[in-house]
Amino acid sequence: MSRLDLHLHTTCSDGSHTPTAVVELARKARVSALAITDHDTVSGLPEAIEAGRVLGLEVIPGIELSSRWGKSELHILGYFLNWQDETLYLQLTRFQDARHVRNPRIIEKLNALGLDITYDEVKTLAANDSIGRPHIARVMMQKGYVTSAKEAFDRYLADGAAAHVPRELPEPADAIAVIRAAGGVAVLAHPSWLDRSEGIFKICEQLKAVGLAGIEVHYSSHRPEQTATYLDVARRLDLLVTGGSDFHGVTKPDIEVGIGKGQLKVPEALLEPLRKAATA
Ligand code: AMP
Ligand code: FE
Ligand code: FE
Ligand code: ZN
Repeated sequence: MSRLDLHLHTTCSDGSHTPTAVVELARKARVSALAITDHDTVSGLPEAIEAGRVLGLEVIPGIELSSRWGKSELHILGYFLNWQDETLYLQLTRFQDARHVRNPRIIEKLNALGLDITYDEVKTLAANDSIGRPHIARVMMQKGYVTSAKEAFDRYLADGAAAHVPRELPEPADAIAVIRAAGGVAVLAHPSWLDRSEGIFKICEQLKAVGLAGIEVHYSSHRPEQTATYLDVARRLDLLVTGGSDFHGVTKPDIEVGIGKGQLKVPEALLEPLRKAATA
């Protein structure tokens, strides 16, 4: 009854659970191997790997990078990275810096809308260098301006909402290149987030030409027919199949480690092909 969870966030980016707590939850969910995939940072990996060693779970070094795709975002997961790579570190610092440019502008917009909130409060809550909108949402929740992260996004933070500010983002090819330069395997995250007007097959075909190796077929919010569609795309393009919950803790309270919304089951057999791709 073992499973994988290859998409997990911790307090090192916008998750609400420490790396150790996430590994403990994975063990409780009978996950045999997991990947920590924090946004723009690998800082949670040493703690998670140590927790995995103690608890007897394999912790795969991972990351999640955001890129620009037309008007929307396209996220790339990276697996089996040489996470101590110097060049990777410098690239990630650049992505984190773009967050520090954008976040104060979001706060300014919220202030103009009458919400009393400071960037210092957000930085204190986040306590890391990969600060994102979910941290802002949590401060808004704490101050009683909204009752959920979903409400914070819908009313204020989402693309098109009242306090939205775009972030400078790399092209998908650049995000993929950053991962590959550090020895990692690049995988398209939650394909269901992409604009449905464009065929997912076409997008994956283009991304494969610039180094994409896999697609996140299994995902907390994928309906069975979506999973089937992405599996078919993976087969036709000879892409690796991966999957994970995208656990964040309090900002996505309906998603649990290992089982997502209850239906997620990422087969253990997906791990070895991924590992092979990294060493190839
Ligand atoms: P940022 O990294 O600052 O651009 O914020 C994007 C992150 O916000 C995503 O990676 C998700 O973790 C989170 N997010 C996006 N939409 C929502 C939502 N509706 N509710 C909760 N979290 C969300
Ligand atoms: Fe996130
Ligand atoms: Fe994502
Ligand atoms: Zn994620």
